Amino acid sequence: MTWTNLATGGRILIVDDAMENIQILHQALRDEHDVLFALSGEKALEIVQQQMPDLVLLDAVMPGMDGYAVCATLQGAPSTRDLPIIFVTALSQPEDETRALEAGAVDFISKPFNVAVVRARVRTQLTVKRQADAMRELTLTDALTGVANRRSFNETIDNEWRRCARSSLPLSVIMIDIDHFKRYNDHYGHQAGDLCLQQVSAAMKRCAARPHDLLARYGGEEFILLLPQEGLAGAEVVAQRILDEVRRSAIPHAASDTSGLVTVSLGIASVTPPADGTDPVNLIRTADACLYRAKQNGRNRYCKSTED
Ligand code: GH3
Ligand code: MG
Ligand code: MG
Repeated sequence: MTWTNLATGGRILIVDDAMENIQILHQALRDEHDVLFALSGEKALEIVQQQMPDLVLLDAVMPGMDGYAVCATLQGAPSTRDLPIIFVTALSQPEDETRALEAGAVDFISKPFNVAVVRARVRTQLTVKRQADAMRELTLTDALTGVANRRSFNETIDNEWRRCARSSLPLSVIMIDIDHFKRYNDHYGHQAGDLCLQQVSAAMKRCAARPHDLLARYGGEEFILLLPQEGLAGAEVVAQRILDEVRRSAIPHAASDTSGLVTVSLGIASVTPPADGTDPVNLIRTADACLYRAKQNGRNRYCKSTED
């Protein structure tokens, strides 16, 4: 997406119990956006889960689940918290507007609506949403390699940790460090070093492609891979795949005495998070200790923790 068309081409969900309102809004928006609609609050939540719109136009007053309840539900879940909601309502007292904004709506449109106003407000909110998304993406991504950064990793492991604790599922991390990377820089130059970091991270990314897997750059030439819902045995398979894939990348490293090619060392730790509020710090520490052992034992290998 370019910065010039931030205002159009969105997926807009219209929620209203009156079909005629949906028709008017649909007509107002269909030339510029993809339009979805729901005739009830319950249906709206279903559609959000399945098709994740960019913006919701939400009728405040509906039988069953009303707009405020829908808004509260969306605001309460991490995956939908940032979904912008514009309330559309025949209520027109200032208190109604305040109530909508306090519920978390980004804007408020009164019925009967003026089509041009609706279109303009949707454009504005869509632009704001996309700018916020782009900004968030930037703050969570490592600029050199394009993988997640450490801050993103820390946020994600906290969430996954709690999720695994709730469902008594294991969670694994693999700490990965490029072998003899200082020598690589000294021999080939810092720019080649940067390119090497990009190639190695791309190779590693190919090894863990499940939706919840997260590869992050943890420090200079150190990476960490989060594998939610994966025990020690599964993590070991991924670690071996990484060793193989980095070897297959065949990046020459004439200054390494481990191999003529760039290699990595890995430390694997795995745990089923207890539901007692402990955090992942020890798990990461254990993976780090295993990585240290892999280095001691000759590099280009993985070591794993003995506990599962
Ligand atoms: P080991 O096998 O024990 O891991 O040795 P090593 O040389 O890889 O480890 P060391 O920690 O001594 O050196 C890491 C090097 O990584 C030093 C630093 O210059 C380099 N490095 C860190 N960040 C970057 C980066 O962004 N780009 C480049 N080109 N090099 C980096
Ligand atoms: Mg290193
Ligand atoms: Mg290092």
